Order: sequence, then C-alpha cells, then structure tokens
Amino acid sequence: MNHKFQEVDLMKRTLTSVLVASAMITLAAAPATAAVTDKDIENDAKSTGDVLSWGLGTQGQRYSPLAKVNTKTIKDLVPVWSFSFGGEKQRGQESQPVIHNGKMFVTGSYSRMFALDAKSGKKLWQYEHRLPDGIMPCCDVVNRGAALYDNLVIFATLDAQLVALDQDTGKVVWKEKIDEYSAGYSATAAPIIAKGMVLTGVSGGEFGVLGRVEARDAKTGKMIWVRPTVEGHMGTKDGKDNGISGTTNATWPGDLWKTGGAATWLGGTYDPETGLAYFGTGNPAPWNSALRPGDNLYSCSTVAIDVTTGKIVWHFQGTPNDGWDYDGVNEFITYKSKDGKHLGGKADRNGFFYVLDAKTGKFQRGFPFVKKITWATGLDAETGRPKFDPANRPGDPAKSADGKKGTSVFSAPSFLGGKNQMPMAYSPDTGYFYVPANEWGMEIWNEPVSYKKGAAYLGAGFTIKTLDPKEIGGDYIGAMRAIDPATGKIVWEVKNNAPLWGGVLTTKGGLVFWGTPEGFLKAADAKTGKEVWSFQTGSGVVAPPISWEQDGEQYIGVASGWGGAVPLWGGDVAKKVNYLNQGGSMWVFKLHKSGK
Ligand code: CA
Ligand code: CA
Repeated sequence: MNHKFQEVDLMKRTLTSVLVASAMITLAAAPATAAVTDKDIENDAKSTGDVLSWGLGTQGQRYSPLAKVNTKTIKDLVPVWSFSFGGEKQRGQESQPVIHNGKMFVTGSYSRMFALDAKSGKKLWQYEHRLPDGIMPCCDVVNRGAALYDNLVIFATLDAQLVALDQDTGKVVWKEKIDEYSAGYSATAAPIIAKGMVLTGVSGGEFGVLGRVEARDAKTGKMIWVRPTVEGHMGTKDGKDNGISGTTNATWPGDLWKTGGAATWLGGTYDPETGLAYFGTGNPAPWNSALRPGDNLYSCSTVAIDVTTGKIVWHFQGTPNDGWDYDGVNEFITYKSKDGKHLGGKADRNGFFYVLDAKTGKFQRGFPFVKKITWATGLDAETGRPKFDPANRPGDPAKSADGKKGTSVFSAPSFLGGKNQMPMAYSPDTGYFYVPANEWGMEIWNEPVSYKKGAAYLGAGFTIKTLDPKEIGGDYIGAMRAIDPATGKIVWEVKNNAPLWGGVLTTKGGLVFWGTPEGFLKAADAKTGKEVWSFQTGSGVVAPPISWEQDGEQYIGVASGWGGAVPLWGGDVAKKVNYLNQGGSMWVFKLHKSGK
C-alpha cells in the first residue's frame, strides 16, 4: 500500500471528533513564581535546579551536569510518580518538559499543557487549547514542549498560534496567530528564548507554506522581526522592511519560491556567545524536484540568524534541490571541540553528519552516520556539498510515456530520515554526540502537481521499506550511536528493532538516556554503550528525557506515548510496528534510598 497525503483527511476527521473547549482548572493557589530572566536562560545548561529551555540550555546539548545518578548508582533508579495526560484519544507525546520553581510544565498531544508539582506529580492546572475544525498537521497531533520567560510558559499550537500562560494560574496572558491553519500552517516545535524574544518557526512544508523564523517580545507577544527562509521573500523588523532573504530567483525558477516551503518546523537553538539562532529548514515545495531546477535556498539548510538584526549571517545547505524530502530541520548543537574550536554539529535527515564553524558556518567535515546512503556518493571535502548520484534521483514525470509518473527509485535513507525530530545530545565529558539514528529506505517517484492553497503539495508517491539486514549488519531499524565529531567514527551503538523516535539525554554521571517505541526508557554507559538500566513505561517513548535536582536529589523524567510520523507515513515499517500501543503519560524517577 502506498501512503499518500489523503491520510491527512483522516487526521482531520479524528480531530473534529475531539474538539475540546478551552479549560483551565486551578486546583490550588500556589505562591507567586520568581520570574525567569535572560540571565537564567543563558545559564540554564549549568543550573541544575531547573530546566528552562528545550535542549537543557538554548545550545541544545542536552547534557546535565548532575552526577548523583551515575554508572554505579543507576541500579537504584526507581519511579517516583507517573501522571496520565488523559483525554479520549492518546497520540504521540514528543514533548520535553521544562522545570522551574519546583513546577513541571509539559505539553501533551492536541495542544494541551499540564503544570505539575515536579516532586509529587500532583496536577496544579491544565490548559486545553481550543482547536478548530480543519487543522492540517502532517505528522500527528504532537507538541514538543514549551519555553519559559518571566512568569510565562509559552507554547505553539496545532492551529499555528502562540499561547503564553501564567505559570502559576494557567491563565492566558497573550495569544498570537502565527498564520492561517487553513493554508496548511501548524506549529509543533518548542519555542526558544533569546534576548527577551521568543523565537519560533512554522510547520506545513507539505502544503507549500512560507518557511520563516519569527521573533516576538516574550512578555507581550508583539512581533519584532520575521526572517523568511525561502530566497526572494522580504523580512521585516519593527514593522518595516528589513531586506530580502537572498536574491529573488537566484536559486528558484519562476514563481515557485512564492510557495517554496523550507518550513522551520523543529524550531531552533541559540548560542549566546555567537548571538546567532540556528534554525533548520525543511524540504522545498513541492517534493517533485524536476519542477524546480536550482539549489532552492534556503531549503534543507541550517540558517544562522543574528537575533539582534533579524538577518541571515550564514547558511549551510545539506541537500540542494532536494528530491527526497530530506528536511534539514535537525538541531544544530554548538560545542567547544577538544582543540578549542567553537563548532556546531548536526545529524541531517539526509544521513550525513555535518561539523561547521559556529560563527561562520564554514564546513569543517562531514560523514555518514547511517550505513546506507544511495542519493549521494559522498561530500565535497572543501564545501560539504553532496556528490549526487543522478541515477538515484526520482525521475521527471514529464519525461515518462504518459507524463503521469516519473521513474521510481529506491532511496536510502527513507524520507523519515537517518534522523528525524528526536534531538541528539552532546557530552563535553566524552566529546561524543549521541545520535538516535534509523536505517531504512523507500520507493519514491514523482508525479505532476500544482499549488492549491490548503492542499498537499507534493507531486510524489512513496513507500517506506526496511533494508536488507546484510547491508546494515543486522535485523534492526533504530540505532543509538555515539559519534566522535572529530573523526566521524561510530564509537558504539545499541541497535533497536523499531525505529528510534525519542530524543537523548547525557549526564555528568557518565550516562546516556533514551526511549524506545517498545516502551523502554534506557540508560547506557556514555563511554562504552553498555546498557546499565531500563524501565518499561507502558507505551512507546518518542520524547527526550530530562534531568534536574530538587532538595538534594537528582530526578530523571520522560513523557511516554507512541505516535508521531512513523505510524502515519511509515509504509512497510508502520506495518511492522503496528502492534505498539498508544499512550500519554509523564514518568519521573530518582534513586531509591535503601534503609530509609
Ligand atoms: Ca538549568
Ligand atoms: Ca518535509
């Protein structure tokens, strides 16, 4: 069976049946919360009593300096509490919780937000965003988390709005529309904070939306700047024109740039040292690459934006003229290399891992982090530009006998990528990136298509397939891989039957934590990959774990609930894992104190 975009209609019907009115339940009057400041945000990666940002610090390293839970003590790690997100329909839970003042703020599927007592799991309040009929999320009704600023907790919704709630009461303080959901816009990424601004992207690359990054005053929601990620579009700052992104028609033919996609759907990271926000961009629209000869900037790229000026300082494109839906949205994580360089790493959906200069974007090195890549034979050593294999690009339907279907090719990775939305982690102790990778391929072909507002804009058909175990060294799809960015070597790996879809946490305690669709939260020795702990959460884990400290004890937390893009778009792989059950809950762990 071929998975086509009609499934979105099915999703819309599902959503219509669960329309929920906005509801806030304040159970107890809590003491007023100390405001989150820019200084707190910039110090987040070091402060152990809170988790203020998606990524445990805006650089996104997902490294906790806590070490009470370590390779020796982890045998005593036990659950403290679990909380059910409830609701009639459980779907993918991809959220990373944030923690402040002893409160946890975690988002759930269907644009819900829960405030919980971080120690006990007691519910403080719950907010359910009113979702209209006809929203068009491509890849399940997920949300990836919230940002904290001042007394606010801010998150994006499936109908492309930004909502800022009072941390204490859950009351709406401000609400802003990002764009029209009826034109295919939605929003699922966790916002990030930089210099008092809340930075967000947009979802909807399969509907020909205009990708961009927006910066608003985090306290009021007032727009400060907008930077389009498709070449030719005008940016704005303080309501005035702020220069066109790139040069109109330099890399796009005709009018295609007007509906060019390049959605910034996974959000971004921010490095206070460079003053740059790094946003990944998705596929150029439509998928059929025969229609748009050229590089199609800034699709499938990392775009570095000066948060003060709202202008693009540099970009690096992983897949020019993408023909495989290799969204380059993956997080760009800056770090200091062992030889003192300020670099950034990115495991791209296209199967290559890139190391770039954090300040200039200059290509340092790149290497595959998956075992099978068909679309390129390698990267140019100087520029990092892929060396395409023309025989492995899906063919132009205009050149077929009836003009309706281009030559079909088998491509790896599949369009769900060597890595997808699940964020990797970086440990300054080991110097390794911990990458949740997947080995799979697809049949893909092009078809004619024209843009229609609010309709899928692909011009492609596809079926995801498993790979021959002989080609990848075993019968598995997922693999947690420790990668040395200095050498490109896979130092260790832990294979997984189902595709990995959850993010990663690494700690000073020498551990790496990640979840599996089979429901396990796992921990391994960060140096060796030896599995040292696991716990069954009752449903698949597709979210990144966090760690924080409270009253002298270290906590680990993760959301559980199988879903996301794999069951919807996974073709043969979706069938292979269709035994997995849905869920929706938050799990928290700490060390059991024996004898007390
Ligand atoms: Ca912190
Ligand atoms: Ca895409």
